[in-house]
Amino acid sequence: MRKLGLIGGMSWASTAMYYEQINRGVRRKLGGRHSAPLLIESFDFEPIAQAQADGEWDRLGNQLAESARRLATAGAEGLVLCSNTMHKLYDYLTDAVDIPVLHIGDVTAKAIRAEKIGRAALLGTRFTMSEGFLRDRLKSHGIELAIPDPERMAEIDRIIFDELVLGEATVESKRTMKTFVTNLQKAGNEAVVLGCTELVMVVNPNSNVLPIFDTTALHAEAALDWILDAE
Ligand code: GLU
Repeated sequence: MRKLGLIGGMSWASTAMYYEQINRGVRRKLGGRHSAPLLIESFDFEPIAQAQADGEWDRLGNQLAESARRLATAGAEGLVLCSNTMHKLYDYLTDAVDIPVLHIGDVTAKAIRAEKIGRAALLGTRFTMSEGFLRDRLKSHGIELAIPDPERMAEIDRIIFDELVLGEATVESKRTMKTFVTNLQKAGNEAVVLGCTELVMVVNPNSNVLPIFDTTALHAEAALDWILDAE
C-alpha cells in the first residue's frame, strides 16, 4: 500500500470521517486486520476560520504548503486536503511538493459524469458557493453548478461554521437542509453536490428527492483507490 498524508482539522469532524472511511475501505478490500498507512496533520480550526473570514488566504496557503512539505518529508507519497474551501489554495500544495495531491473537485466531477448528470446545485461554505475555485474545476469537466440565493447561502454557511465544524448537527438544521434540497429540485436541478466536507452530517445522501454527491465519501474513496494503487 502507498502511504497517504491527510491535511485535516478543517474541521476535525470531517477528518474523522475520512479516517474511518479510508480504514474501513482498506479492511473491505484486503480483509484480515488490514488498515490504511496514513499520516495526518490536524490543524486547530479556530485561527483558520478567522483567517478565512479576514481574507488572509496567502498566509493560509503558506501554512498549507508547510504542512504538505512536513508530510512529504515524513514519508507521505500522496496528499489529500480534507476541505473543499481550502481547495481555493490547491496550487500552494502542488507548488510545494512533487507528490500527487488528489483534487476533491476532480473526483467529484468524475462521479457526477458517471451518472450522466450535467447540472447540479452546489452547497458549501460561502467561499465555495460564491467563488469560482471549485465551480470552475467542475465546469472544466463539463458540469454546470447552480448556487442557492444569498439568504439560503448565508444560512448554510452559518450551519457549517456555528454547528458542523464543532461536531454538532441539530434536528432543525437537518430540517432546513431538507427544505433547501426540495427547493433545488423544484428549481430544475438534477442533483446536489455537498461541497463541504461536513454537510453530510445534516443531509442524508440515501434519502432525498435528488441524487446527492457527498464530496467527503467520494474523496475518501479516491484516497482508498490511490492507497491501493487501484485508480
Ligand atoms: N470542511 C469545510 C469544507 O469542505 C469547511 C471548513 C473550511 O472552511 O475549511 O469546505
